[in-house]
Amino acid sequence: MKTIFEKSNNVDGITLTDMPCNIDFLDSSILRSEKVGLPQLGELEVLRHYKELSDKNFCIEKGFYPLGSCTMKYNPKVNELLASLDGFANLHPFSTDEDSQGALELMYKLQEALKVLTGMDGVTLQPAAGAHGELTGMMIIKAYFESIGENRKKVIIPDSAHGTNPASAKICDFDIVQIASNEKGQVDIEALKAVLDKDVAAIMLTNPNTLGIYEENVLEISKLMHDNGSLLYYDGANFNAIMGYTNPKLMGFDVVHLNLHKTFATPHGGGGPGAGPVCVVEKLKDFLPSPVIGYDGDRYFRNYDIKNSIGAVKGFYGNFGVLVKAYAYILMMGKNLKEASENAVLNANYLKEKLKKAYDLPYDVPCMHEFVLSGDRQKQFGVSTLNIAKSLMDENTHPPTVYFPLIVHEAIMIEPTESETRQKLDEFVDVMLKIAKEAETNPEKLISAPHTTPVKRVDETQAARHPDLKFTE
Ligand SMILES: *Cc1c(COP(=O)(O)O)cnc(C)c1O
Repeated sequence: MKTIFEKSNNVDGITLTDMPCNIDFLDSSILRSEKVGLPQLGELEVLRHYKELSDKNFCIEKGFYPLGSCTMKYNPKVNELLASLDGFANLHPFSTDEDSQGALELMYKLQEALKVLTGMDGVTLQPAAGAHGELTGMMIIKAYFESIGENRKKVIIPDSAHGTNPASAKICDFDIVQIASNEKGQVDIEALKAVLDKDVAAIMLTNPNTLGIYEENVLEISKLMHDNGSLLYYDGANFNAIMGYTNPKLMGFDVVHLNLHKTFATPHGGGGPGAGPVCVVEKLKDFLPSPVIGYDGDRYFRNYDIKNSIGAVKGFYGNFGVLVKAYAYILMMGKNLKEASENAVLNANYLKEKLKKAYDLPYDVPCMHEFVLSGDRQKQFGVSTLNIAKSLMDENTHPPTVYFPLIVHEAIMIEPTESETRQKLDEFVDVMLKIAKEAETNPEKLISAPHTTPVKRVDETQAARHPDLKFTE
């Protein structure tokens, strides 16, 4: 496909009859004397160009998208309609509280809903993503220890954690202590005890963890940490698995971030920006970024009066459009949020049981919303997990997350989400079984996949090390 620059045919896309504004007052030295060099095409040609480009993309509206840990669930279109309402979409961020009562009310009520769901006492909606929420949470933990005159340096993180966890803690100048998982794929309590001392500020845990396994000993872990004067951080990106059943507060956590763009059905990845609100227990409320949204029984307002605030972590008040969509989703689902988790878990277990005949399943236990297969069996025939992932693209299916978590060889991490039908799940099973069979009978086909996509096999190393993103004629 040609770029829009190559397609340029010097037809003016628009006709300017009069100069739209008077530029006489500008010094001629700063005025452009040559043409800008923008592509010139008629409106219809421009539309066709971008339609063709978008047709090459894969999206949830096109096919199954079981990208583990990313929760690529269906995003109800009514959310988009609500987020585009004039009063939301065109509200100026500098508007006064008086002029923004509707938007502030929505944010306040979203804060309240997230408190109920997490069991926590205070919320900031500012962070723009999960990793940004982690950073905010770790800054809060750091500020808390400073306020009580303790200079704890260490943060414990299990080896199954998302890579953003150690990165966020490190940015806050903590030293990372990694602990191994046990044979059940859970935190090894003895390994935890062995590294626990008065220099430990916190542990960062994902529950269910990234193997899709629920940490059965979470209460024992929280007691150990709290007895040591340490705090517990909950990576809530996997909240999809437990909504309405339990919450981080009941498990003993002090700080949690949620991924609105995963659990609460607001599109992400190529589909839009995210939001990673952070919720905290009572004693950490004073450290939240300012402002938080308050309500005095009469009007909603931005509350800057937060005693030990770590300061703002995002321009204005977070990605507001995402907040509107998440709030709409919560209201629309109501008590059925619990059923969403139920079906997410059911769908994952259904796929796991169907696929474990053909693929290795290193942790053969009931899973939560996702599970991790290993491509080791197929590797004997020369077919790697990468080849399996590429082959799925030929079957109108987005590949699962691969080679993560790092503790599983040739990992294939599958998360179907609750929004898929039994029929779709069965189609996916058929495709995966077909690929497993082909690994034995026709490995060459898989090794050279994908065959039907607009872009075929790319050189992964070159693409990562020397990306060539610039068009030059
Ligand atoms: C997605 C994810 C994150 C990071 O969230 P972003 O919004 O991508 O920054 C962190 N932890 C886990 C377990 C995740 O799945």
